[in-house]
Amino acid sequence: MTSSGISLDLWLSVLQKLEPKLQRGMFVTWFRDTTILGREEKTIIIGLSLPMFLNWHLEHYQGMTLEILREMDPTIEKIVYQVDGSLKGDRERTIDLLQHFPEQKKRKLPKKNEVKLAEGLTSKIINPRYTLDNFVVGPMNRLAHAACMAVGNNPGGKYNPLFIYGGVGLGKTHLLQATGNAILKSIPQATIIYVTTEEFTNQTIEAIQNQKMDQFRRRYRQVDVLIIDDVQFLAKTDRTQEEFFHTFNALYEDNKQVIISADRSPEQLTLLQDRILSRFERGMIADVQLPDYETRLAILTEKAQEYELFIDQKVLQFIAEHATKNVRELEGILMQAVAQYELEHCMPTVRSIAEIMTKLHKDPYDEEEMVGFEKSPQKRATLQDILEGVSRYYSVSVSDMIGQSRVREILMPRQIAMFMSKKHLRMSYVRIGENFSHRDHTTVMHAVEKIETKMNDDTQLMREVRAIEKELELSEKK
Ligand code: ADP
Ligand code: MG
Repeated sequence: MTSSGISLDLWLSVLQKLEPKLQRGMFVTWFRDTTILGREEKTIIIGLSLPMFLNWHLEHYQGMTLEILREMDPTIEKIVYQVDGSLKGDRERTIDLLQHFPEQKKRKLPKKNEVKLAEGLTSKIINPRYTLDNFVVGPMNRLAHAACMAVGNNPGGKYNPLFIYGGVGLGKTHLLQATGNAILKSIPQATIIYVTTEEFTNQTIEAIQNQKMDQFRRRYRQVDVLIIDDVQFLAKTDRTQEEFFHTFNALYEDNKQVIISADRSPEQLTLLQDRILSRFERGMIADVQLPDYETRLAILTEKAQEYELFIDQKVLQFIAEHATKNVRELEGILMQAVAQYELEHCMPTVRSIAEIMTKLHKDPYDEEEMVGFEKSPQKRATLQDILEGVSRYYSVSVSDMIGQSRVREILMPRQIAMFMSKKHLRMSYVRIGENFSHRDHTTVMHAVEKIETKMNDDTQLMREVRAIEKELELSEKK
């Protein structure tokens, strides 16, 4: 066995090589409180502080870690992991990551991702993270995605201009930039400009003030692809709209691809001049709408994978179910969960997510939040239906269920009725509490969670709940 000082030095060198290969969040999350516990012949024993780290390391980091160790000492043939809870926070036996790997300024994007721009022109760089592959397609954005794919393969072709519209946080910028990335991939020498309407406006004003209009026009008109985000911000009276129109026309007539987004459809963009609108209408117009539950879940799964987050499927389902406003919100909650996890070192649970949502001033159980989304399709059932269904199944009376009785036979049916009210009627905890003899909302929350958790390993209970649901014709959504 190596003495622990030498092990620590070795481990620090390994971490130094690993760190640049991983995203910082991932590195800090999975390598804090780790160490080399020892060596047995050709095997290195790596210590982890929590059992849940084990699978993750085996799956994601074992190969990498072994490779690095072997570079340093080719006699090493194997690594094994050992969980040792006492490593947690032990600064003598583990490497203090924050001290040895202080956070650095954001890395600059690699050169190859920078978009070639006409000389002197400032433009936001297209974010390489946005691709058409990692855009999750569902019924509400299929057409928009397909149109972007087509433009990505054949810019300046049939779908010109391409106009994508929809509400905030539904993926317009993602699609626009992803299309830019797709074009760059097939035509690396293409000159692409991505600008927000705000930037375009500022540049126009600046050019006018500095009497550099000619230069401005020349630069814009020599691009192969122009992407303008959020044209609803184009001012009505301004010269900007005039400039925009001329730029647009020049490019369009040259068969250069123009891609535009707005928060509403062309005909609803009353600020825009008719002549601009009629141009938009000649191309392809596609909208993005609020994603349904399945798509929300798919997006979360995709994001979790992208960020290499290990999150329980149940938790993702919970987020998908309750974060219904837009995709940005979904992502926001996911990121909060990760941040919390990194700070407090506990895996996100349904409960911790619910707490996060409350902190974000959003009652995950508040029906109001569901506005704008498809309500659960089982909307026709009422609380009374559920109470009666449960009452029939367990042969207990409705009045006992909603009453004060604490008899054991009543407890479970009551909790199930609460759970089903939450799940199928999407009532808030407060409202459910009111209907059950004014119980406190936390009591209801615990009851719901209890059933939720219990159903996972109690198949009997699961079957019973399913049976009641079936009888009430409540479809299974979870
Ligand atoms: P918008 O421009 O419409 O306001 P964004 O494109 O900025 O919305 O999207 C907000 C966030 O949600 C982005 O991080 C984006 O990657 C993500 N997003 C939106 N829709 C999807 C989708 N269908 N699949 C994957 N990610 C999505
Ligand atoms: Mg946007």
